[in-house]
Amino acid sequence: MKRRDLLAAAALSACGAARAQAAAFAPADLAHAAALRTAGLADTEAWRLLEGITTEIGARPAGSAAEARAAQWAVAALTKLGLANARAEPLPMKQWQRGPASARLVAPAPHALVMAALGNSVGTPPEGLEAEIAWYPDLAALRADTTDKAKGRIVFLDQKTDRTKDGSGYGRAVGARFGGAVEAAKRGALALAIRSTGTDRDRVAHTGAMGYDIAVPRIPAFAVSVPDAELITRLVARGSTPRLAVNFETRSDVDATTHNVIAEVPGTDLAQEIVLIGAHLDSWDLGQGAVDDGAGIAIVSAAAALIQRAGKRPRRTVRVVLFGNEENGFDGARGYGDRHGSAVHQLVAESDFGAGRIWRFASRVQPAALPLADAIGQQLAPLGIERGDNAAGPGPDAAVLMRRHKWPAVQLHQDGTNYFDVHHTENDVLDKVDPAPLPQNVAAWAVTAWLAAQSPLPFGPPPL
Ligand SMILES: [Zn+2]
Repeated sequence: MKRRDLLAAAALSACGAARAQAAAFAPADLAHAAALRTAGLADTEAWRLLEGITTEIGARPAGSAAEARAAQWAVAALTKLGLANARAEPLPMKQWQRGPASARLVAPAPHALVMAALGNSVGTPPEGLEAEIAWYPDLAALRADTTDKAKGRIVFLDQKTDRTKDGSGYGRAVGARFGGAVEAAKRGALALAIRSTGTDRDRVAHTGAMGYDIAVPRIPAFAVSVPDAELITRLVARGSTPRLAVNFETRSDVDATTHNVIAEVPGTDLAQEIVLIGAHLDSWDLGQGAVDDGAGIAIVSAAAALIQRAGKRPRRTVRVVLFGNEENGFDGARGYGDRHGSAVHQLVAESDFGAGRIWRFASRVQPAALPLADAIGQQLAPLGIERGDNAAGPGPDAAVLMRRHKWPAVQLHQDGTNYFDVHHTENDVLDKVDPAPLPQNVAAWAVTAWLAAQSPLPFGPPPL
């Protein structure tokens, strides 16, 4: 290093030290964070809550009677945990409903297929559809196709989902589910079938939201289980052109009501400022919404309860928000922003990645608050959590709010290696949840929310 660079480095580190001195947590607040961390590791509430919502409510698709019961269940549970101002805020929405469905190969040999319509999909004509399959390895191959191969056929996308810790495999694959029908319809296809967007090899289909383009005809879209996708691909590899028959009903644009459920640990001198820790109340209609997102509901609720029970009132209000309709339209996130957008938010963050261990903490705070985010990271380090960058993606609903309202955010990355085995399937049930990592999650959320609430500096405006 040259002398000039050494001087510059010394000046920078002096400046960094001054910044750290200007923005540091009070020792008592750090000590309380450590106490919360220890208490969190002994948490039993999260499992109790997860067992409760999956057993007493189960599947709770947005806008359904079950979601409304889930909202009442959550208000009662949060009240019982000792949180203040527990309430359900209703919001209008347009609901999608699944009806009866079946699909089968009719040639070259008959095979029943395990399938699920994708969320938002139109149904088939009442008599169903039957056509040859036009097979593509993935969405990119369909996009690149300038021939008339898809015309009059059922497009099949064999888009695979890579198993990854950080969910990036799902991120790369989900475009086929969301946008495949538009690409297929542009090429004259009658319907879209996809290999399930999931990492398991079970004979279950993964549903999830898809979308249409107003300028392109709406064709039915559905997923088949991974073993059924493999069957189709083997038949194509043999040089045959399988024929597929599919028949399903759906209803769209049904007037319905979803709910955000809110409860608080009230703040003191900065009570008007909000530390928002969220999850989503709704689930898909298959399974019980155990990992998606019963686990998130359980984790953030138990973390707030831990802060409440520990007896020290935070400076800012710690607010649990369980968002309505995350899965199919973000009505809850947008409705929350419409209603509460004028309040200063110190933080928005959401637990919506299952029940795995947290392994990384990322922030998205103004530069002057970075030493505070780093200090939170240091309190999380004993939980085996590494410090990530300052470009946090704070979860689906929280990201909507972060972008729209320029609110600061954090992300507590969970290990998602196994999450997409059961995500959006009939297998998303309590039986598939490992309870062991839940207390670590509760500890990390309690430490993060507490310190955000005690911060001597606002975390915003964040870099966006
Ligand atoms: Zn979710």
